Amino acid sequence: MRSTPRTMKRRKRGKPILHCPQCGSTRLTYVGGLILGQVYHCLKCDYVGSFVYETDGPVEPASDDA
Ligand SMILES: [Zn+2]
Repeated sequence: MRSTPRTMKRRKRGKPILHCPQCGSTRLTYVGGLILGQVYHCLKCDYVGSFVYETDGPVEPASDDA
């Protein structure tokens, strides 16, 4: 019988990937918590808001039709 290693390989399920709802960029920075809640700032299109897309997986290049 083997002794199970203590450090099991965890799946890479880190933080959810955040996407900008406007341009689909993942270059979002967390601004802070306001009364509204979490606020993010997109470095690409300068979107600021609490609503962002969250995905957990490989990022597909978003073809924005804006
Ligand atoms: Zn953006």
